[in-house]
Amino acid sequence: MIGKSASTARSAGLLHLAVATFAVAAVAVVCTGSSRGAEASSIGDGAYPGSPPAFVTPAGGSAQVRPNAFGGSTTTLLRSNGSVFAIRESDDRGRPMSTVFNLDDGTGIEVDADYGEQAAGASPAFLTRTPRGHRNARRFLASCGADDENPSSFKWFSTLNWYWVASSTPGYLDRTNTLASLRNGHTEWVNNVTWCSTIPDVSSFNTLYQGTISAVFGQNGYNTIGWGSVADLHLSACPSGTIACTNTWFSGITATESDTRFDDTGIATWFNGAALGKYDVHSTMAHELGHSAGFGHVACYSNVMCQTRRTNDVSDRQLGKGDANENNAKY
Ligand SMILES: [Zn+2]
Repeated sequence: MIGKSASTARSAGLLHLAVATFAVAAVAVVCTGSSRGAEASSIGDGAYPGSPPAFVTPAGGSAQVRPNAFGGSTTTLLRSNGSVFAIRESDDRGRPMSTVFNLDDGTGIEVDADYGEQAAGASPAFLTRTPRGHRNARRFLASCGADDENPSSFKWFSTLNWYWVASSTPGYLDRTNTLASLRNGHTEWVNNVTWCSTIPDVSSFNTLYQGTISAVFGQNGYNTIGWGSVADLHLSACPSGTIACTNTWFSGITATESDTRFDDTGIATWFNGAALGKYDVHSTMAHELGHSAGFGHVACYSNVMCQTRRTNDVSDRQLGKGDANENNAKY
């Protein structure tokens, strides 16, 4: 299954590229001025087109820190005029989960970092929980459970046309199966595939696979998905230990581009399916696309947008109650 409107693929793609190109041009113009340049002048975060400015309090501004629902903290950086420059949600270990920058020109970027499970952070209840009716030991946890929702400020108003950086795929992954996994991860949100049989698909969210590409990560008019070193992105918002990092650019409330990089440096081992110690490509794609679509992290573990990725688990191949409901609500 692919997008709902395959017949309009070509025109939608051209429209998307036109919009994205305009967004790039707009940012470039602002960079010649003073506002964004000033924010990024200290320690530039990232080293690619459209990379975010440093997460530092603007001159004359202030920072507010308060506890959040993840056992961590939310840090809000305000400009001197009181407007919000950036917000960072950190988890109970102080790791950034989501960082949103609102630039002076009305554009912005959200950077989402995802981490794998670690024994020290997994509760005994989590490890021994009995899967729903399954005899094997896989921890099927995404389910028709809690209605946890956390929509971001932006959404797509046209088809999200995406490309696969096929050449970046780790050699140990079967290419055919990997592409199927990436496409199926998209289908979940496009068709609102959910554990909850009573939730219909009334979401108009649509994506369409455009083929392979060799484009580099960054704001270049192409929505790309591939593998690489997340550390090489040089992002404080996707620090060491991040297994997948998604950047989504937006203008006002309109998403204009989104790129996802799965780490290939050994922090995570990938697999198309459930296997001990390995992360399922399909499930992780579904989570990252959730970010691209405009959904933030929620409490674990009954929704795909749970903050923590799990090995040997394919339950995120279907949306939870909160995922499906926020998909219908936003789109
Ligand atoms: Zn995430």
